[in-house]
Amino acid sequence: MKKPPLPPFDDMDFVLLDLDGTLLDKYFDDYFWEHLVPEKYAEAHNITFGRAKEDLLERYRLHEATLNWTDLDFWSAELGLDIPALKEQIRHMIEVHPHVREFLALMRAKGKKVCLLTNAHYKAIEIKFSQTGIRGYFDHIVTSYEIGHPKEDIRFWEKTGSLIGFGGSRQRTLFIDDTEAILKTAKEYGIRYLLLKEKPASKELAGRAKKNSGLFPTIRDFGEFLE
Ligand SMILES: [Mg+2]
Repeated sequence: MKKPPLPPFDDMDFVLLDLDGTLLDKYFDDYFWEHLVPEKYAEAHNITFGRAKEDLLERYRLHEATLNWTDLDFWSAELGLDIPALKEQIRHMIEVHPHVREFLALMRAKGKKVCLLTNAHYKAIEIKFSQTGIRGYFDHIVTSYEIGHPKEDIRFWEKTGSLIGFGGSRQRTLFIDDTEAILKTAKEYGIRYLLLKEKPASKELAGRAKKNSGLFPTIRDFGEFLE
């Protein structure tokens, strides 16, 4: 099947980007939540890794797509573990996806407003920025935490659109994310150019099924923008 052409950059003023899974390799987060945290939780509660993982996946599901989901302080309290300190421990595993830096530099050179829109907690962002050095590429950094709603919620878009100005330029805005539910909300809000980032993690942990409904055009590697 022939891939549809990429959206025309001359038609765009705003380039909105998700962080985890889109610009950064989600393997770090998957490994963290599905391996390291269960390991520490098992130790703390004197249970097996398998039992800990089962317990935790159930708890994660309860808070998915809410602000709690990415709130490191919430999880520290909920699990009785120092979650930011654990992230620090494996910060060397944080990686930027291939060709992301070149893409961001190109967007800046073309005069686009480059904005990071993320559900990630500010403590997680701090660790990721200091490890990768990509903060300087963005004109705006907006977290769902400061807006008060996750990106899956249309109110996130209404507030952020007026805050950084793409609300009046929805037809001239591109948004890239690796989560379809979020792209659907952005579509409902009226963002014209939407792309799904495929392969959010360089390595998949066992048991992770990939779901892509085909609703959105996809990009697999940011190198596609540079050809
Ligand atoms: Mg993501």
